[in-house]
Amino acid sequence: MLPLLTNRLPAFLDQSAQRMTDWLRTHGESAMRFRQIRHWLFVGRATNFAEMTDLPKKLRVQLADEFRLFQSEIASRQQSCDGTQKLLLRLFDGHHIECVMIPEKTRRTACISTQVGCGMGCVFCASGLNGVVRNLSQGEILEQLLHLRNLLPRQERLTNIVVMGMGEPLANLDALADALDIACSRDGLGIGARHVTISTVGLPAKMRRLAELGKPYHLAVSLHAPNDALRARIVPTNSATGIRAILEAADLIFSKTGRRVTYEYVLLGGINDSKREARELARLLAGRCAHVNLIPFNEVAGLPYRPPTQRSQTDFVAELRRAGINVKVRKRKGADIDAACGQLRRKIIEKTGGVHPDNPVQLARRVILAFWESRLGT
Ligand code: SAH
Repeated sequence: MLPLLTNRLPAFLDQSAQRMTDWLRTHGESAMRFRQIRHWLFVGRATNFAEMTDLPKKLRVQLADEFRLFQSEIASRQQSCDGTQKLLLRLFDGHHIECVMIPEKTRRTACISTQVGCGMGCVFCASGLNGVVRNLSQGEILEQLLHLRNLLPRQERLTNIVVMGMGEPLANLDALADALDIACSRDGLGIGARHVTISTVGLPAKMRRLAELGKPYHLAVSLHAPNDALRARIVPTNSATGIRAILEAADLIFSKTGRRVTYEYVLLGGINDSKREARELARLLAGRCAHVNLIPFNEVAGLPYRPPTQRSQTDFVAELRRAGINVKVRKRKGADIDAACGQLRRKIIEKTGGVHPDNPVQLARRVILAFWESRLGT
């Protein structure tokens, strides 16, 4: 195992432009150097300050003495036969997060995490099995993009970001918004804001704040059920939010961005995949500029859920289409490399005994609860 990054210098990507330009001035350098450093990082693919050869040697040494250019490192990399690559990153404090590069025709999509673990507790999801450990910083979010981009050949660049990795993005909205501002800026990674998708469990107050940012990000809402009773069994936060407030907040975002909202719906065999639920979902979304993204459940070791049968999946799609709802079944990417959220990290935690409070009692409780829920659902 790699040694822990114990001597923790502040991370360059966690510093604001103001803080860095002040620092440069106090070291007798012009503010312009800040853009030069960023250029080396975002365009020049530098991995340390020493490589930034058009900066004075003394400045490079001072920077390296006071800042860490990268605060995360690649602990492992998996490559799927479909080209998808998944990175397990080790953070300065020993925690792990995952991020994925999905190459498709002309697109190069980065799927990134926003938290270590997840506090939302969706019953079928591996990321939340141990709860949330902490939020990621702006720099840790950006570093995922850089590690993924650095996997690409020099002539290629990242074209899309999907915030669908570990964690609930809107529970860490400040850091995410700052990171996306930089990723989408011309002197950052130059990714079009319209090519960013944020997937949320549906936190209405945070969704309204997202609307206020006034960015044309594409919103995806993890709905997973067409009524509150069923949704509360699958997505525990629903008891506090309810579907109605989520739809209203999504409508608000649509009215600001003019962008069609995607509703994600994980099909869990025997639980939420009947024609009745499809019809109810169609009624719920009727009249909205919505798109439904069906995700056949990706099996998670230790959880008693199963994917839908081919028949129920086809019927579900047909019911929605009959009602005029726009629907697609999500293609499985990286099926051979544990690409469902949190699966790779779980393996590491199991293998190493965990560097963070991995709680077997909590896991056992979740598995037993999930088992009874699945029984009640059939
Ligand atoms: N917290 C965010 C991001 C989660 S990951 C959210 O809730 O939207 C993106 C999507 O993958 C979510 O819709 C999530 O519910 C779904 N997902 C998580 N684990 C899954 C699994 N094992 N199989 C299928 N979809 C899964």
